Amino acid sequence: MTAQPVMTAQPVMTVQPAMTVTRFAPSPTGHLHRGHAYAALKAWQFARERDGRFLLRIEDIDFNRCDAANTEQIFEDLAWLGLDWEKPVRIQSEHFKDYHRAAERLRDGGFLYPCFCTRKDIEREIEAAGQAPHGSEGAIYPGICRHLPNDEQDARIAAGEAHALRLNLEKALEEVGRNLSWHDSTAGEQSAAPERLGDAVIVRKDIGTSYHLAVVVDDGLQGITDIVRGVDLFESTHLHVVLQRLLGLPTPRYHHHPLLTDSEGNRLAKRNQSITLKALRETGLTAEELVEACVPRE
Ligand code: GLU
Repeated sequence: MTAQPVMTAQPVMTVQPAMTVTRFAPSPTGHLHRGHAYAALKAWQFARERDGRFLLRIEDIDFNRCDAANTEQIFEDLAWLGLDWEKPVRIQSEHFKDYHRAAERLRDGGFLYPCFCTRKDIEREIEAAGQAPHGSEGAIYPGICRHLPNDEQDARIAAGEAHALRLNLEKALEEVGRNLSWHDSTAGEQSAAPERLGDAVIVRKDIGTSYHLAVVVDDGLQGITDIVRGVDLFESTHLHVVLQRLLGLPTPRYHHHPLLTDSEGNRLAKRNQSITLKALRETGLTAEELVEACVPRE
């Protein structure tokens, strides 16, 4: 008798660790500088070291501040640095529909409310209340529009009054609970503390979305497993994990890195044109020398 091949009723399941996917997500509001080069290299290397994928995303939803020429310059600068990334590149301004859909979902769930306040209204209220709590993004919204009656909201919207949509944080926390946590590879396990940002603007008056909403939606849609970015965005993560939970998206692992500073210890800024990658390249600096010089003060 010939031996029969052993048949298994079920394919054997093996658990594959998810492939690492990172991204670099610059906003084309100006030319990149050494700080961006450092951040881009960090995210790219992180993926390379793990045989993962590296994506580039252009965060240009703020059409008042971004322009296409800067986007082209970003591609040129990063290629010069020796980075490669998957195509097509996600350009946020081509995906407003995705952000609108997510905002609608949050709104339908009762997690957003219209806010008609101007900056002045908020300042006045804060002044009148004396000492205002300050969060990581400046003054925490004092809640002026949080409990407007529905008919007043509807009437003001119908009358065309400009408004943003803010997160009703209290309501959001009732939904997602107060025990959310996230992990940062340097700072360790973090208990989410979204109250540091308060009722943040999720849909801006002028652009119909916000950095917070677009970044969470895109990281989810693009399957980002590891967010490697500057520590200046550390505090925003406390809000992002709440939005992820409300939208049914996974929370990635975070790797916030220190920012490059100049010789006086000041953070590099786009407004200092002399240090753009383009300007440095034009002085004859090579990409290798630049990479070499990208060492932050810890
Ligand atoms: N677009 C953001 C910036 O240029 C970065 C977003 C992120 O990495 O989450 O600051």
